[in-house]
Amino acid sequence: MRIDLHTHSTCSDGTTTPAEVVAEAARSGLDVVALTDHDTTRGWDEAAAAAREHGIDLVPGIEVSCKHEGISIHLLAYLPPTDGELFAELEKARSSRLTRAQRMVERLGEDVEITYEQVLSVAGADATIGRPHMADALVANGVVANRSEAFERYLYNGSPYHVGHYALDPVRAVELVRAGGGVPVMAHPFAESRGRIVDEDVVRAMADAGLVGIEAHHRDHDASQVERALAIARERDLVVTGSSDFHGAGKPNRLGENTTAPDQYERLLAAASGGTEVVRARH
Ligand code: AMP
Ligand code: FE
Ligand code: FE
Ligand code: ZN
Repeated sequence: MRIDLHTHSTCSDGTTTPAEVVAEAARSGLDVVALTDHDTTRGWDEAAAAAREHGIDLVPGIEVSCKHEGISIHLLAYLPPTDGELFAELEKARSSRLTRAQRMVERLGEDVEITYEQVLSVAGADATIGRPHMADALVANGVVANRSEAFERYLYNGSPYHVGHYALDPVRAVELVRAGGGVPVMAHPFAESRGRIVDEDVVRAMADAGLVGIEAHHRDHDASQVERALAIARERDLVVTGSSDFHGAGKPNRLGENTTAPDQYERLLAAASGGTEVVRARH
């Protein structure tokens, strides 16, 4: 069984449609794929149809934007509820991302060519707007060669052009996901290359609130960061996951480059309690 539990589509900052993510997952020999777009469930229906067509299992998920003392945290929510307070919080984050993009474009526009309308148009209707879409606009305008260069030069955390957006408190996010029957897993907890990270006490507070798992195997973790994640998983008996964080052509991450062990996947499923169902279509 090959299981990849973290991917993005054009519903957030990936470059392939939900159906294409699933089709490519099947071609890559995966048995189970989770679609986890930032702050949205909008890709689920299309992904589910593709999973049935291609004969693989789909785990509906969301990567929930969280923030603790100004530090960004990503919480993967598997099989979460699609209504209620969590959903309201996601919509709040999504609309805050629009004003934030406007403000970042104002700052960027002082120095390089970029407009808000262009960012919206490269993102496509109804996608969760993020910095990768600003990066795509900069690429289209010849300012940078690719998303990575855009982040290195203009969009990194702490850049003078950077503006934050509304994001949930991580403990509250864990509580809301669990209250709705979903399974919260902390994404790439120690990926320092992305910016500031929280210390273990925040992970422990999330564990106290009902965190089920931790994503240890991820390309943004070096060997010592994987070990840190495994150590806290042992300490708190958390499920250990691994995944690609596929973003299509937007990042080098390839589907299945990191995977989750079947026994760990079974533990995740056992922790779900009536939020959303797995789409079981694997032959
Ligand atoms: P945002 O959600 O707007 O704060 O942007 C964060 C997103 O940017 C992450 O989900 C990644 O997909 C993407 N990202 C972060 N760093 C890089 C990078 N160096 N190159 C390409 N994409 C990146
Ligand atoms: Fe992303
Ligand atoms: Fe993430
Ligand atoms: Zn992600």
